[in-house]
Amino acid sequence: MPIDPTLPYDDNNIFARILRGEIPSKKVYEDDWAFAFEDINPQAEVHTLVIPKGRYVSWDDFSAKASDAEIGGFVRAVGEVARMKGLVEPGYRLLANIGAHGGQEVPHLHVHIFGGQFLGPMIARR
Ligand code: 5GP
Repeated sequence: MPIDPTLPYDDNNIFARILRGEIPSKKVYEDDWAFAFEDINPQAEVHTLVIPKGRYVSWDDFSAKASDAEIGGFVRAVGEVARMKGLVEPGYRLLANIGAHGGQEVPHLHVHIFGGQFLGPMIARR
């Protein structure tokens, strides 16, 4: 069920609970700004999620309200995880779903990193 990205942040969403360590995850990377972990239901050979540590529902919320330091730290963390995974030379894909048309299911901003294989068309054919 897609989420409404205009609703206030829900502190009990699943990624908030992962950040607090209440729910286990396969951690890939962590710094002051971001936390990265393996997607529980991978859609590609590499499928890692990167989330900001701040309370942001979506890319919309984050891009409008996060500080320059939070945005810079998060963007650098996404790049760092891709480098750690050896994805730069073969290439990879980033995806952030927002709201109903994007199919966003978890109301804490996350960027998907897909890689490790050819990823096919940019979006599903209708
Ligand atoms: P969205 O559709 O919101 O862009 O993507 C949510 C992603 O979170 C999905 O790819 C889903 O597999 C992943 N996910 C949902 N719940 C959990 C969880 O509890 N742990 C982990 N590691 N991933 C999750």
